[in-house]
Amino acid sequence: MKKIIVAIDGYSSCGKSTVAKTLARQAGYTYVDTGAMYRAVALWAMENNAMEPEKIIPRLQEIHISFIQTEEGQHTCLNGRDVEREIRRLEVGNAASQISQIKEVRAYLVALQQAMGREKGIVMDGRDIGTVVFPEAELKLFLTASPEVRAQRRFDELIEKGETPDFAAVLADVNERDYRDTHRAESPLRQAEDAKVVDNSHLTREKQMEVIYDLFKEAIDR
Ligand code: C5P
Repeated sequence: MKKIIVAIDGYSSCGKSTVAKTLARQAGYTYVDTGAMYRAVALWAMENNAMEPEKIIPRLQEIHISFIQTEEGQHTCLNGRDVEREIRRLEVGNAASQISQIKEVRAYLVALQQAMGREKGIVMDGRDIGTVVFPEAELKLFLTASPEVRAQRRFDELIEKGETPDFAAVLADVNERDYRDTHRAESPLRQAEDAKVVDNSHLTREKQMEVIYDLFKEAIDR
């Protein structure tokens, strides 16, 4: 059967990774979480006191990111070390949002992402997948949900991880990150013209996956 590239973009915490993982499993495709790649670079920058462009740019080649399969699912590795838990922290997400504004960081990761998709059969999620990484992707999805719904989801996730978040702070963080993602000079988050928009504020996971799997079938039959 024909193999395609599925590009999934959208705001933070709108369920992109759940959708992407589920679709990849259903289709027998590889899943690539590009947000995890930006988070891993951010963690490296935090640990190496290199958050500023002039400090990180000359050292990008020192940052090696890979994915491994574990019993808990796919984990992100930074220079061979499993950093899956650490990169999910709120402050690492914020740092990722900052370093993702650096043109050279983006170019470094986009090249890696394009290499990962060379064989197709891939589901990749992020902010610029349908617009910059794979403008020729056969299926582009743009996921959205209201900021309040997304803040509630992130709040629940943090509680589950044993953290003690404050809802107002989480909502402020969602809004701030949306603003940064859509207003940055380099590859701002925007919907590709040919993307299918899925607003999941009021969809169950099952219903959403039904809609998306139908779009996937349509794309491979095209
Ligand atoms: O999706 P996630 O919240 O894990 O992404 C972390 C940060 O990385 C985002 O806030 C965004 O600024 C950045 N990012 C990006 N481009 C991507 C994926 C993530 O700029 N393709």
